[in-house]
Amino acid sequence: MNIRKGDTVLVISGKYKGAKGKVLRAMPAANSVIVERVNLHKKHQRPTQDLPKGGIIEKESPVHRSAVMLLCPKCSRPIRVGFKVLDGKKARVCRKCGEAIDK
Ligand SMILES: [Zn+2]
Repeated sequence: MNIRKGDTVLVISGKYKGAKGKVLRAMPAANSVIVERVNLHKKHQRPTQDLPKGGIIEKESPVHRSAVMLLCPKCSRPIRVGFKVLDGKKARVCRKCGEAIDK
């Protein structure tokens, strides 16, 4: 899984094609990610402490990781991720500009 929580991604297929958003959650086991404001579905929410009234809310549903591409924070292009060993750790790098994505 080369997309992580906090990354900014571009949706490349489906209804939300072209949308950009922040990854709220990465789910490697399901090969899916939850992207902010992408793949919204109406959900009937029962009352909880956070939402005492319940009702219908819009909630992000997971999208398959193949439907999104990581946006490079340096060159802001949609990229594929490469890996490089930096200081003994595996770091993600942009295949286009070669910059390390993780600091
Ligand atoms: Zn780049």
